[in-house]
Amino acid sequence: MNENTKIDNLKKDINNAKKVVFLTGAGVSTHSGIPDYRSKHGIYNGISESPETILSEATLFNRPELFYNFVMENMYFPNAKPNQIHKKIAEICNKKGVLITQNIDTLDSKAGNKNVVEFHGNLYNIYCTKCHKPVSYEQYSSNYIHKECGGIIRPGIVLYGEQINPEVLTKSMKVMENADLVIISGTSFVVYPFAQLLAYKEPNAKVWAINKTEIPAPGVNQIIDDALNIFENL
Ligand SMILES: [Zn+2]
Repeated sequence: MNENTKIDNLKKDINNAKKVVFLTGAGVSTHSGIPDYRSKHGIYNGISESPETILSEATLFNRPELFYNFVMENMYFPNAKPNQIHKKIAEICNKKGVLITQNIDTLDSKAGNKNVVEFHGNLYNIYCTKCHKPVSYEQYSSNYIHKECGGIIRPGIVLYGEQINPEVLTKSMKVMENADLVIISGTSFVVYPFAQLLAYKEPNAKVWAINKTEIPAPGVNQIIDDALNIFENL
């Protein structure tokens, strides 16, 4: 099947679907200038540790400056704007769908998407780990110590070694069970438990993947391309 036929078939599937679920990752936001920090492995300040080590609860509490500098330099891009992929997904979700995203940058909400499940939380849900009060990004961007109580401030994202919020997990599984079309994009689909969500899909649901590389899942219609090229034509 050539690329154009595939895109036509995908369009038909979107038009015919009653409920669409999108599963997205970092590749959707790179077009908004947000780098995939996993690809920046070890370049930060000559530190040879992996993001998995730095983005852990142990580092947050035992080496808070390392954690803080890493997230501020590699993860926060408060001026980033949603791109055509976020906008197209928002348009479809607001009609008849839900997005489950691994992205923590809130660009889908900024694109107006009202049906977003943030699987790994988001960077702007910031709070103090000691007194649990919410903290603004402005305050966090100036210091990781909470002025009021001296506690360490953290973003409400799922760190390596932490569990996915059980409510988010339950909601995601329900969304998967109720959709008759699944569209995966901008993710290599190897991070668990996110990649496991596909196991909860309705058995007859159609599945598409729009990605630069093939994803390791059977029975998926794959379009190997930059997602931006495809979403601009949907
Ligand atoms: Zn506090």
